[in-house]
Order: sequence, then structure tokens, then C-alpha cells
Amino acid sequence: MPAPYAAAMLLRTSTLLFRTLREDPADAEVPSHRLLVRAGYVRRAAPGGYTWLPLGKLVLDRVTEIVRDEMAAIGDQEVHFPALLPAEPYRTSGRWTEYGDNIFTFQDRRGADHLLAPTHEELAALLVKDLFTSYRDFPVTLFQIQTKFRDESRPRAGVLRGREFLMKDAYSFDLDEAGLQAAYDRHRDAYRRIFTRLGLDFAVVRAMSGAMGGSASEEFLAATAVGEDTFVGCVTCGYAANTEAVTTPAPAAGDPDAHPAAEVHDTPETPTIAALVELANARALAGRTDWTAADTLKNVVLQVRRPGAEEAELLVIGLPGDREVDLKRVQAVLEPATVAIFDDWAAHPELVRGYLGPQVLAKHGVRYRVDPRVAPGTSWLTGANEPGRHATDVVCGRDFTPDDTIEAAEVRPGDPCPACRQGELSMRRGIEVGHIFQLGRRYTDAFAVDVLGPEGKPVRPTMGCYGIGLSRVLGAVAEQHHDERGLIWPAAIAPCDVHLVAAGKGPQLDAALELGGQLSAAGLRVLVDDRTHVSAGVKFTDAELIGIPRVVVVGRRLAEGYVELRDRASGERTDLPVAGLVERLR
Ligand code: ATP
Ligand code: MG
Ligand code: MG
Ligand code: MG
Repeated sequence: MPAPYAAAMLLRTSTLLFRTLREDPADAEVPSHRLLVRAGYVRRAAPGGYTWLPLGKLVLDRVTEIVRDEMAAIGDQEVHFPALLPAEPYRTSGRWTEYGDNIFTFQDRRGADHLLAPTHEELAALLVKDLFTSYRDFPVTLFQIQTKFRDESRPRAGVLRGREFLMKDAYSFDLDEAGLQAAYDRHRDAYRRIFTRLGLDFAVVRAMSGAMGGSASEEFLAATAVGEDTFVGCVTCGYAANTEAVTTPAPAAGDPDAHPAAEVHDTPETPTIAALVELANARALAGRTDWTAADTLKNVVLQVRRPGAEEAELLVIGLPGDREVDLKRVQAVLEPATVAIFDDWAAHPELVRGYLGPQVLAKHGVRYRVDPRVAPGTSWLTGANEPGRHATDVVCGRDFTPDDTIEAAEVRPGDPCPACRQGELSMRRGIEVGHIFQLGRRYTDAFAVDVLGPEGKPVRPTMGCYGIGLSRVLGAVAEQHHDERGLIWPAAIAPCDVHLVAAGKGPQLDAALELGGQLSAAGLRVLVDDRTHVSAGVKFTDAELIGIPRVVVVGRRLAEGYVELRDRASGERTDLPVAGLVERLR
């Protein structure tokens, strides 16, 4: 008896729940969204919510399996936390308020506050606290594959930014920094393998850790024109970095300037960060209650005074209109800072020179001040609205005088690569498909996760967390693998291995079904277009739209014992004898 799974892998278009569209859906802004809807992979069901049709679910499952496989390979253990949670753990960690309007919160019938989890650091820390008592229990890493919920200020681009989306999130627990570093490196390597297997052109860039807290952090960006992030990359050596990371080279070891102690010029009238948010809301975001909704706030001006410096430095962060995460990042960097008002900066462009990024500032221990009172659209300092410039760049003016000219140390494409010195840097856009963090003890502190150490004293584990947006990854692959006629799936995650098209009724249909049976019995995933009410031309068009890598047309030459193999990516066509086809395609 054939395995039920193999049998299930003979899909027939005539009975498949799908419908192809010739027209682009009106709400689709980016190619992946247009094509995934038009080819019958997903249907919009709610704002930021998509129904996966059978073809889409097959691809999503294959993406998930690759990720699960690589997580298991590095020893991560799969668990599954509830998505529906009481507020308490998130109150304890501070994220109940930190996430702001970005989490879905509500009350149950007893009036108790609840949320739909945006990620599960709290639950992972609590689980380890619940189960582990001794240093001998460590290290351990948990992961889960679960639907996440975030009330994104602007869900967009189909599955690329949903309010409900599938994520793989992992949490490592180690007793010391070396252990955490090892866990981080292991996940970094696994992520490289995952994105390579998925056929993605990606870069690993240093990043801020945003609302998660923590220090070291890197993002995996899938290169695509529709991405919301900008990074610079070297084609020669593969070097990649955030624009701000590359514009300010890390200080050499021993450089006395490497970690200047921060000094903030506090005045009684300087408001706190919370007050800043209020101010920003009141001024620019009437009716909105958090940073995540900062649609109109373009720049924040920061004032920094370094020890011994006569003058404060002037900084400007360009805030993009629709990216709540950047605001979270800014917020995370600024946390202990207070706010100063720098009047009239816009009248003195000559005072500002140089660029610094938030993570560079954070690395240098710089605390800084913020002035949100900047008119929308005044992004002339950062060039945030210019094509190819990163919207979160920071402009830094140091030791400025009225005679200084703007000396932007910004990266131009074309600049020599700082890593290999051979290649040239070019500016690219990317979608964040993965993010890894060294969290440290933020959550284990919050929940007092202590275990007995080797000397009988309690030790507190340190955490890392590692996320991949599985549904977003699928969109990112579609973004990178398509042409004007449709999707072109990498073989590793295509919904089927072979798409058989019966170009006519009668013997051609019979032969296509017969071949489909043979190929699926041989272990291949097969889709047979056995529709009798549509023309061969429509079937060919649909096959190109659906994007299964190999299309076998059972057509004119069947009588001579031949079918045609079409390679979706190259367009190459080859006549193959029916005899031996199964071996050839296996
Ligand atoms: P972004 O910067 O795009 O808002 P994020 O930094 O908020 O993402 P993380 O908290 O780092 O996201 O979550 C881990 C991963 O989950 C991200 O790298 C991304 O792949 C995915 N992800 C985050 N938000 C969404 C979303 N709204 N829709 C789909 N995937 C998402
Ligand atoms: Mg992000
Ligand atoms: Mg986000
Ligand atoms: Mg992130």
C-alpha cells in the first residue's frame, strides 16, 4: 500500500482549492504579494491576516521543516507555549508597556488583562525557572514554531508584515558569557545554513536589539528592492553592514576614545523619555499614543556632551514614517537618557557634520538627548528620504563651529570595502527575515531565575533569543525568485517537484494522470493540471504563475512517445521520451 503522504502528493488541479488571477489585486503593493495572491497561494482574510491555500500551506510547511531541521541539528528542543497569556509576566518584564500599542491586549470575562504574545522571552524564562534547579541542567535551548500577534501600525506587503504571522523563536540559557556567545554563534551558523537552503540572497548586519533589550544583535536581511532596511554590501568579499555601522569604523583597541563615559547635561526642565513620547504625541501625533505610530515624525535631534568637550554635539536621527521597530530601537538606545531641547538647529546646517548610528553610540556608551520638535519632512541632514539612504542614519556634529561645512562621512556606493579593500560597496535594501540577540540577564533578572551553582551559591543564567519570520521568509523568497510571468520557487521549498500539464484531453490527459501516479509513487510531489474546461494556453500561463521549477507538458508529441520538460527558471525546453521519465525526474 502506498504511503498516505506519497498518495497525497498527487494533487489534481481540477479539484485543488485555488484560483489564479490575471489581474493584480488592488491592495497589493509588492511583487511577492501580487504573485502569491494571483497564483493561488494566499488570500487576504483580515487586515494583516492571510489564509494559506493548499499550495501556500505546502510551501510554508517546507520552509518550516527546513528551519526545524536546522534547529534540531544544533540541539535546540522544540516546545510550544500558549499564545494567549495573562498580562503578569509581561508586566514583570516591563514589556506590557514597552511594546505599547504593538501588542494585542484585552480582558477575559473576569476582567483580567491578557495579551496575544508578540514573542515569548518571559515564558521561556519562567519555564526554565519552573523546571531547572541546578547548574547541571545547563546549557539548554528551547524553540517553538508559532503564530505571533503584533498590532503593526501598518501591516503591508501581504505576508511580509502581518498582524498575525508564523515565527520560529528560540531561547538559549547559559551560565556564563562564553556559553551565551557559543549559543549565539551556533544560531548564527544555523541561520546562515537555513537561509542558504531557502535560496535567499541575504546579508548579516549588526543591529540594535529593539524592544527585546540586550546587547549584541544581528539581523539577517534578504536583499530586495522592497525591503524596509538599507545596508551596504561588498560583492567581492560578502561584507555587509548597516549604513551607520560602516560609516563610523570601530575605534582601534587601546583607543582612549573607544568607550568615553557618558555625561548628560541635565537641566531641571529636561523631560524624561516618557515625557518626550508625550511631547511627540502631543505635537506630531495627535490622537496616537505611542512611538509606534510616529507616522509624521521624521527626525529626532539629539544633543551629546562628551567628557571634557566644550560644546555639546548635535545629532539627528531620521525616523522613517512607517517603521515602528526603528522607533523601538531608538527608544531602547535612549532609555536612560533625558531630553534636552536644542532650539533652532534646522537654521544651521553648517553646524552638523559626520554620521553616527544608534548602535555605534550605544557601543560607546553615549547617552544622548532628544528633541522631537522637528517639522515633518526636514530630513535634509540625514538624507533619509533620498533613495538608497538608510532612514535610521544619525547625523553627528562634533566640535562644530558656525564656519564648519557639512562633512558627511556617509557611504556612497562605489566606496572601497573596509573589510577586503578590494571590492566596492554598494547600497542595498533588505527585508529582515531573522534576528539574533544576546539578551543577557534582562529576563532572568526580571523573574529571578536562579539555580544552584557548582560552589553551592546561586547562579543566574544568561539568555539569547533567535527569531525567524517563517511566513515573511516565504514572501522574501517569492520577492527574490520571480519574473514578470510569475513565481519561480527554489526546488527546496516548491509546493511540488513536478507540474504535469495535460495539453489536451483524451490520451494526453490519461497519460498525464498515469505519469503523475508513477512520479508520486516514486516519491515526488506532483501537481497534474487535469482540467478539461481550460485551454492548453491557460494551463501554460498558470504553470508559469505558480512557479513549480519543472513543468512537464504532455502534448503534441505524446503519440511519438515524447513529453516536453520546461525549466521554469531558464525557460529551457527539452523533449524527453516518456519511457524513463520517472528515473530522469527523480
Ligand atoms: P521588523 O523590524 O520588520 O518590524 P522586528 O524586528 O519587529 O521586525 P523581531 O521582533 O526581531 O521582528 O522578530 C523576529 C522575526 O519575526 C523578524 O526578524 C521577522 O522575520 C519576523 N517578523 C517580525 N514582525 C513581523 C510581521 N509583522 N510579519 C511577519 N514577520 C514578522
Ligand atoms: Mg526589526
Ligand atoms: Mg517590528
Ligand atoms: Mg528584529
